[in-house]
Amino acid sequence: MSFRISIASGKGGTGKTLLSVSLAYHLKENEHRKVALVDLDVEEPNSSIFMKGYVTEVIPATRPVPKFDKMLCTNCNACADICMFNALLKAKEHVLIYKNLCHSCNACVRFCPTGALQMADVRIGEVRFMNNPFAIPFVEGVLDIKEEMSAPLIALTKDYSEKKFSNSEFIFYDSPPGTSCSYIEAIKDSDLVLIITEPTPFGMSDSAIAIETALKLNKETAVVINRSVKNSGNVKAFFEEKGCQVIAEIMNDRSVAEAYSRGDLPSESNSGFKSSIKTISDFIFSRSIK
Ligand code: SF4
Ligand code: SF4
Repeated sequence: MSFRISIASGKGGTGKTLLSVSLAYHLKENEHRKVALVDLDVEEPNSSIFMKGYVTEVIPATRPVPKFDKMLCTNCNACADICMFNALLKAKEHVLIYKNLCHSCNACVRFCPTGALQMADVRIGEVRFMNNPFAIPFVEGVLDIKEEMSAPLIALTKDYSEKKFSNSEFIFYDSPPGTSCSYIEAIKDSDLVLIITEPTPFGMSDSAIAIETALKLNKETAVVINRSVKNSGNVKAFFEEKGCQVIAEIMNDRSVAEAYSRGDLPSESNSGFKSSIKTISDFIFSRSIK
């Protein structure tokens, strides 16, 4: 059974992808562990930039939404009454279905007395398996343009990757930012949630919401401070007050930002960064054998 680690953050741009890829690389190259990396930030996946990944397999991803057959409709209105997401509008002799509001719950189909509504699969994106020079098993979900619901694709990407990477000791999920359904879908099966934050009021406030959400789901949760500065005691105290341990700091360092902007891993060239990654991986090991 794999140990699953979600790398998450309250807001975007705090270093989730950098941490996910760096940890996967460190565990494989330096600790000789079997790892896999899954990019669940399906609206904007970018782990492949650092992984230098190239696509080897594409699986179209679909989800079911109702399809309307006017010939069978008796205008009873039962479908519109039962839909709690306002995804259905009964208009004269038509039923309009708003795909992006539909949660695929199937209630309207079950309550339709005539069979005028039936579920049909619609495409939402794709799951891409990728080879890479690091030989790390790697997959990403990519949401189609104009699709608004990312949680179903996150669930599918996890399903496919778990089947394919079942012999991995550690699976890293590069999770979506924010604290909505997509975040919950990404972390709900994880053994550990690592929140990477930056020491700004905005970053700390959003991270606190992500921590609160993860703790409500009974997830073991820890914080990594990115772009940290000296005398960060008040930042650590803030998170400890929220019931979350700060396990490592990645110091604010121009050379890390420069490597990042080139799409390179700073752990190859920056000893401070490498040491922080080692600290975090030791923490992961300690939790995986609990
Ligand atoms: S499947 Fe559920 S969410 Fe979608 S339209 Fe029907 S009742 Fe509404
Ligand atoms: S429940 Fe079925 S029959 Fe009734 S309005 Fe909706 S689609 Fe038509």
